[in-house]
Amino acid sequence: MPLVVVGSVALDSVETPTEKRENVLGGSAVFFSYAASYFTPVRLAGVVGDDWPEEHTKMLWARGIDTSGLQIVPGGKTFRWSGKYLENMNDRETLDIQLNVMDQFDPVLPEEYRRCKFLFLANGSAVLQLKVLDQCPGAQLTVADTMDLWIRNEPDELRELIRRIDGLVLNDSEAKLLTGQDNLVRAGGAVREMGPRFVVIKKGEHGAMFFSEHETYVLPAFPTAEVVDPTGAGDSFAGGMMGYLAEQGNFDPKTLKQAMAYGTLTASFTVEDFSLDRLKNIEREDLDQRMEEYRRMLSF
Ligand code: AMP
Repeated sequence: MPLVVVGSVALDSVETPTEKRENVLGGSAVFFSYAASYFTPVRLAGVVGDDWPEEHTKMLWARGIDTSGLQIVPGGKTFRWSGKYLENMNDRETLDIQLNVMDQFDPVLPEEYRRCKFLFLANGSAVLQLKVLDQCPGAQLTVADTMDLWIRNEPDELRELIRRIDGLVLNDSEAKLLTGQDNLVRAGGAVREMGPRFVVIKKGEHGAMFFSEHETYVLPAFPTAEVVDPTGAGDSFAGGMMGYLAEQGNFDPKTLKQAMAYGTLTASFTVEDFSLDRLKNIEREDLDQRMEEYRRMLSF
């Protein structure tokens, strides 16, 4: 089943303790779409300036991603983010954010997008996420991601969004900030009380926690020794998870757990190189093979 995603489309500059890359393909909606495309057809909506290299769009097309909802603003500049990873490769510092065309972005979804059943509101302003949600009244599963910037700057809009969606995906420090709870189990429960049927708290190299009325569990990250650049891991996790749910066409507890595992494995490939460089060199079979290893690792 087709999956719609709206979020940032970016040019990233990333610094790790050993390497540096400037103006590489990034953005929450880009990592998400690419990851999800291994499972289901994806329709991407976002905005870029005319400095956006066309080769990036072609790369998305090569995976069958529909970009008819990607607006190009003449004379505008694409959203830019730059970040630096600390020695542990888990913590990062944002060095600079230039919203550029994102600042004025008015997401008007193409008609085909509006009929979607599966919708993901990738990291971005809650005001914008609400505008998109309003355009997809028939969606069966709506899931959003958020971050500290929006928790601090748009608390009321974010609360309204959380009340209206089915699932929220966020990282551990964001869950603590949103709820004021230091314990993640309590934080997960507190987010659920705000409205969504399920909550996923991502913990970077320590995996991800799941909360619903049926169950609470944690899945470990897939252990990879090759951590080159963690940028986009969270978005790829969400892409793998939502992609699998859309492929299966349901979100019962068993499918959700399997989807959490696919999200984990998709992210484990993303971190093995900069930008989409590792992900673009895998096939669905690589994910399934890693799934076998992951299953073996978890059975005792
Ligand atoms: P992740 O590592 O999964 O948290 O995602 C990193 C991606 O998020 C990068 O490619 C950035 O371009 C994008 N990003 C960073 N900050 C923001 C923001 N405030 N709004 C939307 N996207 C962002």
